[in-house]
Amino acid sequence: MPPSGKSLLTDWTFPAVVHGDWRALRRSRRTTSQVSVSSLSQRPLRYAVVGAGFAGLSVVWHLLKHCPKELHLRVDIYDEAGIGGGASGVSGGLLHPYSPKGSRHLLLMMNAKLLDIFYFRFLPFIQILAVKLLWRGAECWKECLKLLNIAEAALGSKESNLEVGESDQTFSEFVVRRRGILRPATNTKTLNLLNDNAQNCLSSCRIETMDTDAARNLVPDICVPLNTAFYMPDAVNIRPQRYLQGLFLACKNLAKESASGFGERQLILHLHQKSISNLLELEGEYDAVIVCVGAKADTLPELSGKLPLRTCRGVIACMQLPENIREDYPENGPSILSDAWLAVQGSRSLLIGSTWEWKSRNSSPYVSADEAFKALEELLPKASAVYPGIKSWCFTGARAGLRAMPPLTPNGSVPLLGCIDDLVGENSSSCKYWLFGGLGSRGLLYHGWLGKLMAQAVLSCNEHIIPSELTSWKNIIR
Ligand SMILES: Cc1cc2nc3c(=O)[nH]c(=O)nc-3n(C[C@H](O)[C@H](O)[C@H](O)COP(=O)(O)OP(=O)(O)OC[C@H]3O[C@@H](n4cnc5c(N)ncnc54)[C@H](O)[C@@H]3O)c2cc1C
Repeated sequence: MPPSGKSLLTDWTFPAVVHGDWRALRRSRRTTSQVSVSSLSQRPLRYAVVGAGFAGLSVVWHLLKHCPKELHLRVDIYDEAGIGGGASGVSGGLLHPYSPKGSRHLLLMMNAKLLDIFYFRFLPFIQILAVKLLWRGAECWKECLKLLNIAEAALGSKESNLEVGESDQTFSEFVVRRRGILRPATNTKTLNLLNDNAQNCLSSCRIETMDTDAARNLVPDICVPLNTAFYMPDAVNIRPQRYLQGLFLACKNLAKESASGFGERQLILHLHQKSISNLLELEGEYDAVIVCVGAKADTLPELSGKLPLRTCRGVIACMQLPENIREDYPENGPSILSDAWLAVQGSRSLLIGSTWEWKSRNSSPYVSADEAFKALEELLPKASAVYPGIKSWCFTGARAGLRAMPPLTPNGSVPLLGCIDDLVGENSSSCKYWLFGGLGSRGLLYHGWLGKLMAQAVLSCNEHIIPSELTSWKNIIR
């Protein structure tokens, strides 16, 4: 199932503003906040964002939003496949701030080299980490919800939908489904882990512990083998492709508003459907380049073999309830987490995910019949162990994406952020290069807050704004 969104793929432009020697200003090492109002007559500050997935569009939104009022800014987005053309567009869209897995799972994910680096030094911390919120989960949760609201609001007016060529039918499709997520405990390890999570949960994302009867009030057929299930009523699932369209539209709206303001700074936004074959090809054009290419970072010659990332392909199965089955999934029923997850799309349609094919280099969203068959063989037994009703549903298609998995650290598998001038090479004198990658299997949760940090670091030309936990990957490669 190819990601949709073609209507957004044309170049999109607002008129350019007056040019001046902005770089000279930058070379004088003043930060943007120190720049005076007189710089309004200068050439706009120019940034390239490579990749229009969760990472790229979050950075773009925050660059436009946080750019000081006295500056003109132009952002060019490059994506070879268009908005949501990578893992983001195909992802399951499940969102909550907790670690769903135990320490054994985390250790199994490491290869021998990473084990050497981390196991002996950090094992005691890993045991603690397994029962906590994800690292900086509160900030990530808060900022992600903000972006979801922004995208929803942008798509919320009919005018907006018409502008991106949407029909009335897609207008009514959800961006965010606020029905919570239910997780039955399937073994004593997850029971203990989730019990602990429940006791330390965020007030903004509660975890309620319930027995089988209460769980069956939410999902009549659910299996609760240990008579305990955990319900996160505030957790959500989204339609990722639609969400990204909404976020891009919100970015366009910000730029449009600035263009209509008399005498104020101008924000200019362009989207180019173009593959960037090497980063230095952007040298000279831009003040900064922010690389948000997900699992394809390794295909850029300047970064190839240099980043501590592993790739992992995941396949998702799309399921529908046949017309002759009358009992549908409860309209208000939550999505389900277990060894496989079920992301509910509506009372007669859901997604089951996901497979984990480590070391795959295949980033294609397309799934062959053979690959789909193998994925179903793996996913259906896991799904039916908690939701036996899935046996009545029909398989209607599959989609896939490639995750960029970061190494395990004492704080869990946190994404990789930071300035990469050292990696790109000495030739990059006037342009600064930045990386926002390795979002792993929780990119939706991470993208809001980290996109904001990334934008602030870029705007102020100051890597120290980024918490050291996100830049410590550089110590591994030195
Ligand atoms: C099957 C599956 C299910 C998932 N489910 C969830 C989930 O439920 N919840 C969750 O939080 N996370 C989930 N994830 C993880 C999440 O999808 C990723 O963490 C996230 O999408 C990474 O975002 P990104 O922007 O870094 O990369 P991507 O979304 O891959 O974006 C990178 C973009 O860069 C573009 N690009 C690449 N190379 C170039 C180039 N050379 N030139 C121009 N453009 C280029 C690509 O076309 C792409 O659009 C899932 C992942 C998979 C694979």
